[in-house]
Amino acid sequence: MTNPTNPAPRVALVTGTASGIGEAVVRQFREMGHQVLAVDYNEQAREKAEAVGAAFFQADLADGEACKAAVAEALKRFGRVDILVNNAGIQHVAPLEEFPEAKWRQIIDLMLTAPFLLTQAVWPSMRQNGWGRVINIASVHAQIASPGKSAYISAKHGMIGLTKTAALEGGAQGITVNAICPAYVKTPLVENQIADQARLHGMDEQQVVEQVMLKNAAVKRLIQPEEVSGLVAYLASDAAGAVTGSSWNIDLGWTAQ
Ligand code: NAD
Repeated sequence: MTNPTNPAPRVALVTGTASGIGEAVVRQFREMGHQVLAVDYNEQAREKAEAVGAAFFQADLADGEACKAAVAEALKRFGRVDILVNNAGIQHVAPLEEFPEAKWRQIIDLMLTAPFLLTQAVWPSMRQNGWGRVINIASVHAQIASPGKSAYISAKHGMIGLTKTAALEGGAQGITVNAICPAYVKTPLVENQIADQARLHGMDEQQVVEQVMLKNAAVKRLIQPEEVSGLVAYLASDAAGAVTGSSWNIDLGWTAQ
């Protein structure tokens, strides 16, 4: 019987750790005693990782070779990877007919191809150990759409397909794969898009938060990053061994209607 309050220390690779959800996940894992390789293209993530005793690897994960190099670094340092958290992401808001092709490709590379390549690269280590956890930070926009976000929403919907397929393949190997689907979390990714959305909808920034971001929310507030990292910790635990192929909403009640 496993003790969820005293989990076995694990080795985790977390992407997108300079701020927001990824930074909170690194902190949470370190508090639990896990070893962590934090991966980000932003050099500022190094200081944040090292401040909590995590290792850091700089990589632009829109580049497939960099994804493979990040996993190779984790294997070199720690000898295995038990937990992968695919979190790195960006947003670009523009109407479909003006959406830049280069931005589309960057978003698909970073938010769909990178999680695939990272999962593929950690798989042998998890399979050999008969234990693994892949946690994909998707979005409420993996389930429903909003205007102006074609690339992001396509990548996130694709991430759910990847989650389900990998879950079916990993089940017999002790590897679980799940997705978390948050609505708006108070992070730089959201703070930066308030101005973009204001332009798109012809509103001021306060109106964007109240009338666009929280329009469909039953709980009228933004989510805190720690509310997402708490669920990551559960899905990464032994206690969640029977949970796989599922999508977990933290969406303020958005999709209940
Ligand atoms: P954030 O901007 O605070 O963090 C994103 C991180 O990804 C940053 O550390 C950034 O440096 C990193 N990153 C971006 N491009 C990269 C690249 N090419 N290579 C390596 N690292 C890169 O944003 P966040 O809100 O914490 O977002 C984290 C994840 O959560 C994203 O996948 C996002 O889509 C998802 N999400 C966020 C929200 C929200 O409302 N904030 C809601 C649902 C889902």
